[in-house]
Amino acid sequence: MKKSSVLSVTLATTLAFGGLFTFTGKAQANSKLNELEQQQSDIHNKRSNVNKSINQKDGEISNILNQQNSVEDEIEKLEAKMADTDQKIKEKEKQIDDTKAEIEKLKAEIKDLKERIEKRNEVLRDRARNIQQNGGSVKFIDVVLGANSFGDLVDRVSAVSTLVGADKQILDEQQADMEKLEADQKKVEEKLDSLNKMLEELEVLKADLKAQNEEKKVLMKELAAQKKHVENEKMSLEEQERVLKEQEAIISKAMADEKARIAEEERKAKEAAEAEKRAQQEAQAKAQEQAKAQEQAKAQEQAKAQEQNQAQTQTQTQSEKSTSAKSQTSGSTPSTNSSNDANLNAGGSGVLSWPASGRLSSGYGGRSGGTHFGIDIANAAGTPIYAAASGVVTRSDYSSSYGNVVYVFHPQLNLTTVYAHMSARSVSSGQNVSEGQKLGEIGNTGESFGNHLHFEVHNGPWSYHGGVNPMGYLK
Ligand SMILES: [Zn+2]
Repeated sequence: MKKSSVLSVTLATTLAFGGLFTFTGKAQANSKLNELEQQQSDIHNKRSNVNKSINQKDGEISNILNQQNSVEDEIEKLEAKMADTDQKIKEKEKQIDDTKAEIEKLKAEIKDLKERIEKRNEVLRDRARNIQQNGGSVKFIDVVLGANSFGDLVDRVSAVSTLVGADKQILDEQQADMEKLEADQKKVEEKLDSLNKMLEELEVLKADLKAQNEEKKVLMKELAAQKKHVENEKMSLEEQERVLKEQEAIISKAMADEKARIAEEERKAKEAAEAEKRAQQEAQAKAQEQAKAQEQAKAQEQAKAQEQNQAQTQTQTQSEKSTSAKSQTSGSTPSTNSSNDANLNAGGSGVLSWPASGRLSSGYGGRSGGTHFGIDIANAAGTPIYAAASGVVTRSDYSSSYGNVVYVFHPQLNLTTVYAHMSARSVSSGQNVSEGQKLGEIGNTGESFGNHLHFEVHNGPWSYHGGVNPMGYLK
């Protein structure tokens, strides 16, 4: 009774079991697929944000370029004005020189004239003195007395006065000339003053233009610095975009792999269920046959006994045949597929092995001048660096900040590990690596001061400044 019930239960559940198996398998697989889909959509969102930021940076850069152009125009205009002012200054300086020369010339002429006037004055004074005192060579009285006639006298007197008068006239003319020269000198000196004033104004204008020009040049420098900063930010964003794109591809592949694995599992489960069903049908048929045979044997025996006409009373000693009603234990436990897929990162510790030997020279978190998004392991150059867990290399190249750097994505853990400042890399992007496989060697490349490994851990794919504390994940 017990055995038959076991058999019937087994038979009854066989079909249901196959279904159940498929069901649980699907549920597990779906949760993993869902997780991958979640990761992919996360990355997709990150990428679209990063691309948005890149567009923003492009906008900023073109804005700065416009500003640079307009400032350059202004500088050009200012420089033209400065050149013009310089030209004007030169002209004024030449005019000033000319005017100064003119003044010098006038002064010389005045001096010359003064001397001549002085000489003539002297002559005139001498003559007057001679006439007045001893009459000189010709005494006036002699002139008068010496006259032969009145006519002669008149002639003589007029000759003297004519002589004196002529001298006086020349003297007056020279005096007038000198006054005119002095007036001219005054005029030219006034012109010089006005020229000097204009020159001063031009110099002030030039100084002002120069100051403006200097200001614009400072502005240009600031704009260039701004542009460089924005371009660096853009480069960093582009790096993020590139890494995210690679990770998206890897996750797509992981999803395809997972789908294939599910299909294969379902196929196997179906096959197993069918095989089991066949086996059970066979067992059932066999059991029925045996029961039939038993019944026939029994009937024959009974007939025989009747024939013997109950000469002897038979005690039926025959126990129920244990007709090897196969107990069908076949406890095909659903193979716990991908048992290492447990959500390890939730608990934290112990999923990653140490990537290198050495001294922990800097921990995760705040440190002077910002946040340290990883840990530093210091050791001699050339010390080997190993993959902290198995996964796929999502990046292997050189960056100005990380130096030689390798990213490894661990799909089973949904973690990304980063190994920076390496002296050399020994893996390439897209390569599968196993835990403990050598990735490179400790070095001092990029923004590094001393040989060390900078190690980062990211939840999911790598993200800018997204490193979490690796200590919670290391063994
Ligand atoms: Zn570091």
